[in-house]
Amino acid sequence: MTATIPAESVAGNADYRRLSTIQGVRVDLRYATPDNFAGRDLYSPLDCGFLHRDAAEALARSARWLALERPGSTLLVLDAMRPQRVQEQLWAVLAGTELERYLAPPARGSIHSFGMAVDVSVCDAAGRELDMGTPFDCLDERSHPAFEERLLASGAITREHVANRHLLRAAMGAGGWQGISTEWWHFDCGDRVAVRATYARIL
Ligand SMILES: [Zn+2]
Repeated sequence: MTATIPAESVAGNADYRRLSTIQGVRVDLRYATPDNFAGRDLYSPLDCGFLHRDAAEALARSARWLALERPGSTLLVLDAMRPQRVQEQLWAVLAGTELERYLAPPARGSIHSFGMAVDVSVCDAAGRELDMGTPFDCLDERSHPAFEERLLASGAITREHVANRHLLRAAMGAGGWQGISTEWWHFDCGDRVAVRATYARIL
């Protein structure tokens, strides 16, 4: 039986850390705006600008690596903690479509719902988002890291896009994060099976 915590309790729990306290990290939570594939703010009035403190430390390591490698550059967090109730709303939008493969079914749960995953990009020293070849949450094969060689060869993405994705993956890898094959922006903090077994699910 997985431990659980209501999303409303996260702000007062020392196991969780506010994203705005992490140096070298900008925050633009797209699910807290209408700028997402559901087309509406899914978070308000919940404040979802948090990660588990283990993930927050890992993100701080990644931000430090990036700042050394590319002075002035920052990570841009697009999504972090995503309560189970919001995961269920997203599932309701995508279930039954071919896009449902992009979302963890509610019964299994997303690593975001443990505060142990982030969706993230990179901003340059001028604060501009690097071009990764697709926007965040572009749910098609151009977003798949697994297909980058083929996408590059066919001209669907450019060398610059691939180089920008490599920079993001190197920064996240330096902090201990693991990417996935289908979304350039998504990273899990450590092993997913271990996260599900060890951390509390945020409801
Ligand atoms: Zn994600």
